[in-house]
Amino acid sequence: MDDKAETACRICGLDDGEALYDEYGAPQYVICECCYCESGIGDDHLSQVRERRELWIAGGAHWHDPTRRPADWDLSRQLANIPSRWR
Ligand SMILES: [Zn+2]
Repeated sequence: MDDKAETACRICGLDDGEALYDEYGAPQYVICECCYCESGIGDDHLSQVRERRELWIAGGAHWHDPTRRPADWDLSRQLANIPSRWR
């Protein structure tokens, strides 16, 4: 375990710098504006994370809040933010 807060969404990789899990691994219950996952709710097991990611991508990888989607947004680039243990 590293000792840094997690800022990248485990499901979709969105990283806006806000801590989703603190440095002790405690969830901060932040709702991702991209995939709409809430940190600490259904993203604490790798199998769940993978399943939710697959569903999200299969559904078109839509942003929950489309106004927050950058004009040059790139799905594969965002997925690269996902910490290796959540891939
Ligand atoms: Zn997300």
